[in-house]
Amino acid sequence: MSMGDQSPKSTITDPRQLESFADTQNSFASSVTSSASLFSQSPIGLKGERNLEWKHDNKCYICNKKFNLTTRRHHCRYCGNSICKDHSLKRLSDEDQKETRICVNCDRELIKNEIQEEIQAEIAKLQLEAQQGRDTNEKLYKEQSEKNARVNELEEELTRAERIQRSKEQELQNKLQEEQTKGEKAREKVDELRKALEESHNSERDINDKCNEAENTLEKLKTEEETLKDRKNELTQQIEDLNKRLKGSLPLDQVRNVLCQRCVGRLNQIYRPNLFNNGAIPEEDSEYAASKGSIYDK
Ligand SMILES: [Zn+2]
Ligand SMILES: [Zn+2]
Ligand SMILES: [Zn+2]
Repeated sequence: MSMGDQSPKSTITDPRQLESFADTQNSFASSVTSSASLFSQSPIGLKGERNLEWKHDNKCYICNKKFNLTTRRHHCRYCGNSICKDHSLKRLSDEDQKETRICVNCDRELIKNEIQEEIQAEIAKLQLEAQQGRDTNEKLYKEQSEKNARVNELEEELTRAERIQRSKEQELQNKLQEEQTKGEKAREKVDELRKALEESHNSERDINDKCNEAENTLEKLKTEEETLKDRKNELTQQIEDLNKRLKGSLPLDQVRNVLCQRCVGRLNQIYRPNLFNNGAIPEEDSEYAASKGSIYDK
């Protein structure tokens, strides 16, 4: 609560509290009125001057001094009593601004009456002002009450809005947490996938290495095959040369007789019977016979 909220309350009074004050005022006003009515009911009375009956007493109504040639009788134009000169010096102006003689009693009563009228007028004015004040106060009090009610309403609304805001914030926080958890899981999966990818890259590299190795081996084998082919051709050539040299040197049957079973098999593979003339074997090359050992050595 700020200072601004409290200040109107301090200046505006609850209308119920003002009732007692109004009662005090009214009782004072009625007491003044009652004294005024006492005056109007007094023996002297406040009667119009026109139809006033003059009293012909032989002494002053106020000081009881006897009238004679030196002390003359005068009449108060207000109460009509017989008054000596000394007690009827006061004058009263009528509607035509004409001054008329009145006694000191009446003068005093008239002044009193005038003051009371003024007081009553003042009281009426104050009562009116008080009434206006009460009305204004009542209005302001009502306005203030309405404002307070509105402030309470707004405060409640604010509280409600704050509560909603807080719950929304909590919700968002929870969602954020969820998203973070999801993100973490996703990151973990990405890491896993990256590892798997790396592994597959490694195995691919291994396979490539093995492939290269195999290709190299294949190349080597091809070269070896080539060498073997060359060697085979060389050997075939040598066999052919031997065949030529062996041709006609010995009859084949004679040769067969001195060979072991295995060598006879080989011989039959190389020499089909129709290829030999008279079954003769060509002469052996002396050099070859020296290196390998001659078939005649057996
Ligand atoms: Zn008089
Ligand atoms: Zn007198
Ligand atoms: Zn043999």
